[in-house]
Amino acid sequence: MKPFVHQALASRVVFGADSLLQLGQEIDALGATRALVLSTPEQADAARRVAELLGERAVGIFSKAVMHVPIETAHEARDEARRLGADCAVAIGGGSTTGLGKAIALTSGLPIIAIPTTYAGSEMTSIYGLTEAGVKKTGRDPRVLPRTVIYDPELSLTLPIELTVTSGLNAIAHAAEGLYAFDGNPILSLMAEEGIRALAAALLVLAAAPTDIEARGDALYGAWLCGAVLGALSMGLHHKLCHTLGGSFNQSHAEVHTVVLPHALAYNAAHAPEAMRRIARALGTERAAAGIFDLAQRLGAPIALKDIGMPADGLDRAADLAAQTPYPNPRPIERAAIRALLQRAFDGERPG
Ligand code: NAD
Repeated sequence: MKPFVHQALASRVVFGADSLLQLGQEIDALGATRALVLSTPEQADAARRVAELLGERAVGIFSKAVMHVPIETAHEARDEARRLGADCAVAIGGGSTTGLGKAIALTSGLPIIAIPTTYAGSEMTSIYGLTEAGVKKTGRDPRVLPRTVIYDPELSLTLPIELTVTSGLNAIAHAAEGLYAFDGNPILSLMAEEGIRALAAALLVLAAAPTDIEARGDALYGAWLCGAVLGALSMGLHHKLCHTLGGSFNQSHAEVHTVVLPHALAYNAAHAPEAMRRIARALGTERAAAGIFDLAQRLGAPIALKDIGMPADGLDRAADLAAQTPYPNPRPIERAAIRALLQRAFDGERPG
């Protein structure tokens, strides 16, 4: 076995149906008494319910979280936390809301309690993103890792099925790239393979029965594992392509992950055979790339960039951007091969 270093990120996880009811105790356990509750505008009702549950422990609600954390929103939320004298923040929602919590923690050190309602996995990472003048910058900082994560599958019952599927495939992408990351290790590989297995199985159930609470629980469990892998490892070509398409072409985060993943895996397949074997085993298929493509298709997810608003004349620029300052990747980044990959993803071709 190759030598390795494993650095576990320390967070506390409370898992189970109705675990939201333990939020008050969890805030007490952090020694906090004044929580600012965060959400998107669409989940303002959920934030109000959380504030009601907390009673005097809630000092305010800030329901303006949006995708990719614009710096202006971060400033406004930080000012609001300061004005209210908040000593912790509770982020209820997906990666956008967790991201806003992280932006507050980055400058204030306030502890964040994340209550994820999608499968993005951000709650398990110390990665933050901030968007300034249309450019998204990401970084890692231990202060932004949520101190407590409450996974309550009841809260994901309302997640529309389209988002359920793409968000779940977004999480699978974290784990799939974790399996061939240069800084991977056997512990994280176990988590990655189990995360893919749990999510793929749960998504197939949820596509037919979106309110199946067991499957919602399994999906959150899978998202937790996949998020933890993302938090511990370097990401490769797939995440680079998605950041390029998301950041420079304003494509929807989870949809881009869904469409690009089979093609990124096909690109890397010959250079990462063990990772491909484990992905295929987790999916119960013969081939990793085709297995992910078939799963997405079976789930009714988008499979072509042309169907999610990517302009055909943007592919050349996307290839240029993706080839610049590449992320570490098992197969070297070759501009012409990346351009061909993007064309296949644009057309929605099944990887051979
Ligand atoms: P999101 O948080 O933007 O949520 C999408 C929409 O779904 C929002 O309107 C939200 O309010 C709504 N929603 C969420 N849960 C719901 C539920 N249970 N019921 C009904 N509506 C619900 O989407 P996302 O995919 O979770 O997050 C994407 C963002 O997270 C991106 O900005 C991405 O860069 C970031 N992200 C960061 C990391 C990290 O480690 N830093 C990891 C993954 C994603």
